[in-house]
Amino acid sequence: MAGAALRARIDALAAITAEPGHITRVFMSPEQRRASDLLLGWMRDAGMAAHEDAIGNVVGRYEGERPGLPALLLGSHVDTVRHAGRWDGPLGVVTAIACVDALNRAGTRLPFAVEVVAFADEEGTRFGATMLGSRALTGRFDLAMLDLKDEAGITMADAIRRYGLDPARIGAAARQPGAFLGYLELHIEQGPVLERIGMPVGCVTAIAGATRLRVTVTGMAGHAGTVPMQGRHDALAAAAACVLAVEGRAVIEEGLVGTVGRLDVFPGSVNVIPGRVVFTVDIRSPEDARRLRKVHDLRIAFDRIAARRDVTIEVAETHASPAVPCDVALQRIVAAAIDAEGLPVRLLPSGAGHDAMEIAAIMPIGMIFVRCRGGISHHPDEHADEADIAAGARVLLRAITHFPPAEPVT
Ligand SMILES: [Zn+2]
Repeated sequence: MAGAALRARIDALAAITAEPGHITRVFMSPEQRRASDLLLGWMRDAGMAAHEDAIGNVVGRYEGERPGLPALLLGSHVDTVRHAGRWDGPLGVVTAIACVDALNRAGTRLPFAVEVVAFADEEGTRFGATMLGSRALTGRFDLAMLDLKDEAGITMADAIRRYGLDPARIGAAARQPGAFLGYLELHIEQGPVLERIGMPVGCVTAIAGATRLRVTVTGMAGHAGTVPMQGRHDALAAAAACVLAVEGRAVIEEGLVGTVGRLDVFPGSVNVIPGRVVFTVDIRSPEDARRLRKVHDLRIAFDRIAARRDVTIEVAETHASPAVPCDVALQRIVAAAIDAEGLPVRLLPSGAGHDAMEIAAIMPIGMIFVRCRGGISHHPDEHADEADIAAGARVLLRAITHFPPAEPVT
């Protein structure tokens, strides 16, 4: 599989955008329609029966030795963030189609079917709710989400209708338990680890769990000129100590990251001591125990800061999702495929969320990471080398042809 041919398809998808000069392709948009039509054609050319399901996922099926066998599912997403790069999502779809094309050209039929899915929404760019495509496939799509509105005030239900699908039929996208044997997703790493160690591909061990907090620090606003430094209740100075506590151990502890991504200061005036600050915290780790310990430690640290600075600090947990481990047998297959390519096997966790997290609810999952330049993602500078994507595609094809594992997938 030539890297240049894969790159050409990535470029063809990147050309489908709502904003000229950028890549923006959101759920239920005219751009999704055009991308889906392109994918349907590629899937059929690769010997698959292809259709669009009830949520707009594009699904292709390549039968095994006889029709109707359970399938190994491959895929990723085709939607993007605003002003995205071209690789996040499409690379997993394009390489999966190329692998099936290689099987088809060789006349190879496997003792299982292979399905390729291009999920209609993973990023949640339009409606805020993420992984709509994979949630529909697993039968875990919450119908209350249909009332969510985009920036133009259009509800998700209306957007689905305008696209030409029926929101009342979303349940039809759910697949039967037993339809699949496992799921393999190839994706750019979106981080710098593989580049740092000089490896084109890596085997993912787990997708990090996350805790998000909303923290409110309440002090006392006052005149910046007249209130003495002693006895102030500066909410922002206290928040600053909290931000450093979030960074604290996360800076040095392997497998733990902590970020304050938003901080709002009230009243937010040059000559007023901040009376109130609201900020977010995002803690992630592939190990739940590590993440939970950090959250626990943070609550203690915030209490101490509140006492020392005579402010109140309230902590609300806004999101918590456990880490999702990759299936051990699938990791073994991916590692063996990397090894068979003559490459050292590097195991690494994923700090970012992926469709595989949702798919893990109904089947074993595995992931292959491809090196990306500078670890940059969700940005126009996102880049993967043709040689690396070709290596990734070869690893994926080997993993497919060595599936199912000798021992049953757990
Ligand atoms: Zn992605």
